[in-house]
Amino acid sequence: MRLGHRAVNGPGPRGRAFRYAEPVATGERRDGGGRGLFYKIRVAILATILFGVALYAVRDVRSRRARKDWERTLSIALVIVSDGPLAPDAVPALKAQVPALEARLASEAARRDVRSPFSFHVVGPVEHRVPPPAPSGDGIADLAAHALASYRWTSDVDAKTGESLSSYDSRIYLVAHAPRSADRQVVEGVSEDGGRVGTVVVDLDASMADLALIVVAHELFHTLGATDKYDEHGHARVPEGLAEPGRVPLYPQRFAEIMARNRPVGPAEEKVPLRIDELAVGDLTAREIGWAP
Ligand SMILES: [Zn+2]
Repeated sequence: MRLGHRAVNGPGPRGRAFRYAEPVATGERRDGGGRGLFYKIRVAILATILFGVALYAVRDVRSRRARKDWERTLSIALVIVSDGPLAPDAVPALKAQVPALEARLASEAARRDVRSPFSFHVVGPVEHRVPPPAPSGDGIADLAAHALASYRWTSDVDAKTGESLSSYDSRIYLVAHAPRSADRQVVEGVSEDGGRVGTVVVDLDASMADLALIVVAHELFHTLGATDKYDEHGHARVPEGLAEPGRVPLYPQRFAEIMARNRPVGPAEEKVPLRIDELAVGDLTAREIGWAP
């Protein structure tokens, strides 16, 4: 079983730079009156568009930052997308565990005096046989192309749900297909760092419900600005990837830190969490999302 994951930066709306092809000689007005009316109208329209884009970007950044004030419960859309037929009990098992995830995260928040941090709204399942786009690299052009492809993909899925999803604080798309192997099941996620959209792809059967939702929580926390707490080998970093870094003896840890993914049971040994009550939010992650100063 592999718990894979990548995070990418989500670009915000971008203004396009325009270049005018008619240079004006300095200190000199030509044609006795300058530009024509059509030119002025065109510039006015372009300026208005640029102003609108800039205004939207500023408001969206403020709105996304305000999520971390925790003055209200964040509404999270969990959009279940079926990529082909699933076992009849797979989605009901997943849905049945969503209140447990909500309660577990509320319990972790309460330790930091934050009340009712999340309210999950389950949407779907909707069938969509197109896999979510995967980033092809970490360059700016790759990220921009991935952002555009993701926007198109989520727009297509949203249209199938028949619901307006744009007002949610974050949207996590859980793409489920039947397990392709009896002995190996995969969960992978990709999120916008500090953005609004995360994606989880899972080989889903009823036994995978808790792990799938643990990865949903990991990706949700990325949308709130939390960073990964595991090293290049996939092992929890010490101490920030440990839920209880002061525990004596240190191992085995009782919990899996949400951004470290696994539960360390020894200095070089970890176990994939299989139950939601194994999940915990470490102190650095809590600070990153505004639960602690
Ligand atoms: Zn991650």
